[in-house]
Parts: sequence; C-alpha cells; structure tokens
Amino acid sequence: MKTFSSERASKFTESVIREMTRICLKHQGVNLAQGFPDFPAPLEVKEAAIEAIRADFNQYAITWGTINLRQAIAEKFAWHNGVTIDPEREVTVCCGSTEAMISSLMAIVNPGEEVVVFEPFYENYGPDTILCEARPRFITLHEPDWHFDEKELSQTFNNKTKAIIINTPNNPTGKVFSREELQFIADLCLKWDVLAVTDEIYEHILYDGAKHISIASLSGMRDQTVTINSISKTYSLTGWRVGWAIAPAHLTASIRRVHDFLTVGAPHPLQEAAAAALRIDRSYYQTLARDYQERRDFLDRVLEEAGFKVYLPNGAYYIMTDVRHFGFSDDVAFARYLVEKARVATVPGSSFYSHPSLGATKVRFCFPKKMETLAGAAEKLRKFKAYPPLI
Ligand code: GLN
Repeated sequence: MKTFSSERASKFTESVIREMTRICLKHQGVNLAQGFPDFPAPLEVKEAAIEAIRADFNQYAITWGTINLRQAIAEKFAWHNGVTIDPEREVTVCCGSTEAMISSLMAIVNPGEEVVVFEPFYENYGPDTILCEARPRFITLHEPDWHFDEKELSQTFNNKTKAIIINTPNNPTGKVFSREELQFIADLCLKWDVLAVTDEIYEHILYDGAKHISIASLSGMRDQTVTINSISKTYSLTGWRVGWAIAPAHLTASIRRVHDFLTVGAPHPLQEAAAAALRIDRSYYQTLARDYQERRDFLDRVLEEAGFKVYLPNGAYYIMTDVRHFGFSDDVAFARYLVEKARVATVPGSSFYSHPSLGATKVRFCFPKKMETLAGAAEKLRKFKAYPPLI
C-alpha cells in the first residue's frame, strides 16, 4: 500500500517541549517545560494592539512586514546591536522567530549542503535542517561552561558548508557566546564563505553582567549574517507570533519569497503593536534582566537543595541540570516521573541532542514565571526529595 506521509515528515517527531506542556496540563502540574511567561505583557504594548485593531489594521500587511515595524526593528538594531540596516531591503517580518529561521534556511540552503549546529541545540534546528534537506554537522558544547573546541570547529568547515547556526544567549545551556568565540566563528565564516544564522531572541536576558554581542556587528560580518529575533521573549508575547530576519538585500529577497508562500504574513495589528514594543522606554530592559536574575537565583537554590546538579546559565531563561545520580534509566523516565509524581514539568535533555543517549542524564527547567509560580514548584520539588527512589 502507498504510504501517504512523506519521508521528510517521518524523519522527526512532535516537539517534545510542546508535548510536555500537554502532559503537564493533564497532571495539573507547574509547567517549567515550555519556555513561556505566565506574567503579563507590558500594558502599553497590549493597548497598542487593541488600538491597532480599533484603527482597522485588520487586513494583510505587506507580506514582508509593515514599514512601521521594519523601521522600529532597524532603529533598535542600530542602538542596541550597533548595526545599521535598510528597513526597505534588509528586514523580513515573519510569524515568530520559528518561521524566520525556517524561511531563512530554506532560502539559503540547497539539499546536501552542510549546516553547522552547536549541540545541545534548541530542538527546532533539527527538523529545520531536515526540512531543508541539509546535512547537519554537530559541534559539541562541552560542560560545564559549554565551550566549543576550536580545532573541531575549524575542521568541520569545508567547501560544502553553507551556514552555521548560532543561538546566543543559548537555549538550553544559558551560554552567552563571548566576543572571542564569535570572532573565531566569524573568521571561519569569512574564510570559507559561510553564512552565520544567529538566533538572538534572549539578547536582553543576561545574568551577572554578561554582555550580548551580535555577530553581525563584527568586522566583515554584516553582509554575511542573518540575524533572527522576535518580540516573544523580550516583551513576554510568545503567543503573538511576530519575529523577523535581518539579512543583506540579496538574501532578504530570497527569504521574502519563501516567507510569502509559507505564511503570507504575520498578524497586521500585532505588527503595529510590536513596533510600539520595540520603542518602549529603554529602562524596561534593565528591569526585565533584573527580574530574571531574581528568578534564576531562586530556582538555582531550589534545584540545588533538591539535589540536582545545576549548570548555572549566563543568559536566557533555562537551567540545564544533570540528574544521573537519581538513578533513573534515562532523562525521559526521569521527566515523566517528575511530572507524574512531583507535578513539575521539565524537558528531557535528549530533546536537545542529535542522539538521545547524549542527553540521557539531563533535564531542562525553564523559569519565565511569577515568583509565586516558582515558589509553588519549589514546594513540590522539596517533597520530591522525600520520594523513594524508583529503582
Ligand atoms: N523556546 C521555548 C522553549 O524552548 C518555546 C518553544 C516553543 O514551543 N515554540 O521552550
């Protein structure tokens, strides 16, 4: 009998991150799995969305985004990331950074070409490379500081390398790539004519004085970088699905074509409100980082007290932990036990690795939550310590 499902679609599974949210709902647990805030978005941005709907910004926007939003993106990229861009020719507004990433990769990569991916990686990059029929080349980020081996990276670049995916601050490790590391990557990109595709959605969520650097700001890289960002994490608006890709004009032309036929465009009124978000008073970003620092420090303490080995993040809003000493067969068994018995949902570490065995001792917690939600999780995790071991 004919198999109707394509081979392509059978090469990956449902997102484990989103599956954990469903399991969490079933057990009425605290969701520290899928990274989305449970606190409100800024009032003025919500008001801007309501106003935009009232003012009838309710039909399709230009497929690559309203000029108002593209201008706001360019203004912010100039003051915050130090790169000047042309909003008319170098920005594509998409349905979230998820679509910006897949549209960009589909616009860049030919089947069989190689894409370098640091591992562990945000799970979407796996299916993204499969959908482009690219060959992913994984480069290990080594614990506990998640550094990469320069020699390994140099030896991976070759004539077939088309792009390298960077995610800084990094999901799931919390690594913030240093200027030296980014310069090393940039030198390889320039030497081998490779594009940097950089996902910077956590750029404002930084701890202990860490600094975010955009690889596009390094000498020679402006025209060899696709910078992906969104309003989801910075303004706590993950459900609005507004993101974008910034790329040199010739690449933007390709990205816009792919984007047009994938989604036509992001929601028009929410694009108008996103422009307001990007122009928010700059003190907002300090408050955001300070509040996240409090949440990170709290969850770190709770997890250490509950017996987890914690990899303290420098950025983003996740904590990777090692759970091997709890004596479970693997990360999935542990995560299932934790959500069913302690009612705290996490993401099994294997979701972030090319081979499940590589992440079998890890689980990821997220903490974009009200302090009271984290306190509720803390209570549950304290009890978890008292449970009898499973084996
Ligand atoms: N980026 C978030 C995470 O890693 C949410 C992912 C998603 O479901 N789009 O949990």
